[in-house]
Amino acid sequence: MNASTAGMAGRVRVRDDLAGLTPYGAPQLDVPVRLNTNETPYRVPQAVLDDLAGAVRGLQLHRYPDREATELREALALHAGHGVEGTWAANGSNEVLQQLLLAFAGPGRSALVVEPTYAMHSLIARTTGTRLVVRVQRRDQPLDPPAAADLVAEAAADLTFWCSPNNPTGEATGADVLAAVCAAAPGLVVVDEAYGEFGAADAAALLSHHPNLVVTRTFSKAFRMAGLRLGYLLADPAVVDGIRLVRLPYHLSALTQALGLRALAHRGALMDHIAVTERERERLAQGLDRLPGVQVLPSDANFLCFATPADPARLWRGLLARGVLVRDVSRFPTLERHLRVTVGTPAEDDAFLAALAEELA
Ligand code: PMP
Repeated sequence: MNASTAGMAGRVRVRDDLAGLTPYGAPQLDVPVRLNTNETPYRVPQAVLDDLAGAVRGLQLHRYPDREATELREALALHAGHGVEGTWAANGSNEVLQQLLLAFAGPGRSALVVEPTYAMHSLIARTTGTRLVVRVQRRDQPLDPPAAADLVAEAAADLTFWCSPNNPTGEATGADVLAAVCAAAPGLVVVDEAYGEFGAADAAALLSHHPNLVVTRTFSKAFRMAGLRLGYLLADPAVVDGIRLVRLPYHLSALTQALGLRALAHRGALMDHIAVTERERERLAQGLDRLPGVQVLPSDANFLCFATPADPARLWRGLLARGVLVRDVSRFPTLERHLRVTVGTPAEDDAFLAALAEELA
């Protein structure tokens, strides 16, 4: 009997509550214009890569790394203007989120997601055995602070996810709404700021008034280091104490710690594309607006979500056939006619706009 026949005989059985789930992940296709996963299109400068290589040469790889990642967390805390005891790092902000759910949600507890939002929030809730509470926010009913407070109080979840700027729509939540959410939520509020550096988002300013607030960030977007797999959180030290109970020992490799530390030292060079990206986002939005029937949502991030008169799945395939990969987000509630495109280089964005114009013609 080989492994697959053993599985068919029922010996390889995934957990009942995972049956029917499909693995998450956007297609990784080798096409000329890849605008589907919201990384920056700009390579890490060679001088920075050389410095990172030097840092690797000095590592003692025969030893386990610092379990507490103290030096890196101190540098992150300094960067964020937050205390080191309330600063924690893991392999991408997705792992930070998973650790949060393992420690503060899980069986017998619930997590709120306000759709349409980042699909991993729901998926991590499900895979950690957390009961999912879903509310849908209609675009024609923007949330003011009292409405946001009502929403989270009524949902009564142990953990509330709040994505700002929101993926896949793009808009950031104002500080007044976030403060109302933190005040009204019965448990933790996790503000996912993966795209925070691109706009005016800064939930961390609320941390001193709201001990139930957790802000998560990443090196994968504005920091130009998606390949590094490094994310972090800012919170009350009690949150970090909870995470220590569920983190695997030595979860953050010596390489990640050393390269993260060097990346922080080079953050000026690594993030110098932000102004260019923001300008390019406005140019791309104008280009989209000029196409007949296309409607663009406002964005504080490095991507744009837009509706077209065409069938989104067919449009996605048509663009791909022209060498342009974007994200089909039409399965999200309220986004039935929408695609999402990452802001690329001017040349990539021109190629995308030309392909879209031809597909829509
Ligand atoms: N949060 C949001 C809103 C995201 O869009 C992403 C990446 N797509 C992440 C978190 C996870 O990023 P990473 O694990 O690379 O830090």
